[in-house]
Amino acid sequence: ETLDKGLEKTKTSFFNKLGKAVAGKSKVDDDVLDNLEEVLVTSDVGVNTTLKIIDRIEARVSKDKYMGTDELQTILREEIAGLLSETNIGEETEFKIPNTKKPYVIMVVGVNGAGKTTTIGKLAHQFKSQGYKVVLGAADTFRAAAIDQLQVWADRVDVPIIKQKMGSDPASVAFDTLSSAVTTEADVVIIDTAGRLHNKINLMNELTKIKRVMDKVVDNAPHDVLLVLDGSTGQNAFEQAKQFTKATEVTSLAVTKLDGTAKGGVVIGISDQFQIPVKYIGVGEGIEDLQVFNKFEFVDSFFK
Ligand code: GDP
Repeated sequence: ETLDKGLEKTKTSFFNKLGKAVAGKSKVDDDVLDNLEEVLVTSDVGVNTTLKIIDRIEARVSKDKYMGTDELQTILREEIAGLLSETNIGEETEFKIPNTKKPYVIMVVGVNGAGKTTTIGKLAHQFKSQGYKVVLGAADTFRAAAIDQLQVWADRVDVPIIKQKMGSDPASVAFDTLSSAVTTEADVVIIDTAGRLHNKINLMNELTKIKRVMDKVVDNAPHDVLLVLDGSTGQNAFEQAKQFTKATEVTSLAVTKLDGTAKGGVVIGISDQFQIPVKYIGVGEGIEDLQVFNKFEFVDSFFK
């Protein structure tokens, strides 16, 4: 239900456009396909992914000879779900961590303002509710506000936070956090990092250093590098994904602020383009407004 509400703007806009795309037409023809292409592109699905979807529908039209516009919705839904299935992701419905050696370490990256801190807070809350012992690490030492904000979330969720003063070495904070997690036998560690994308070499060096230090304390840490993207920025989110995947090995995505936007199609395009699983989506500012991304629920909520 939260998901339906969270995606309301995307859905309304999508249906309006879809309705216009088939207005006065009973058969899916080239015109309808052209219109559909525009609907998908303007819903921020992205050009490449849109063309893939259109190709598939075109193939079905030419095979079946006739496709009524009344069927288009069902077929579109099938093709989008099919596309997401090929990335073999988004089948989880619960906030879970793998049953590996403790602690499971998540390093969170993304530009400032994308919703990193909020997502960390919401995640910590979900993991804690599942009975996991959580520790946060404030390794965005570049901005005092980042440390303060994470502290606010740590207090709200009631989980420990490891921090140092502003300007200290992020790798040192990461080291302290993981050491503390090992000592206290924590299950999950979530580390915030600075998102200074305008300085790519620095970003890359900093993330590499943090990762190297983590691996010294906990084998193979970080186990997940979670990139947080602001979904309301549409195509800009694609660009950020491109930059961050160049700077470090991103293993999962969180797409935030889908509640305030009609650009929810960005989730489909990004998971297809980057072949990185979208694990979480943000649908509001509240502590409960984070969802495990499930492609079936997502596509369904689009078409409900
Ligand atoms: P950071 O700089 O990446 O750590 O970003 P913050 O976590 O501080 O988030 C920036 C702003 O976006 C804050 O005002 C958050 O409340 C807001 N925000 C984060 N996630 C969501 C979301 O899913 N929906 C909405 N509506 N706002 C969000």
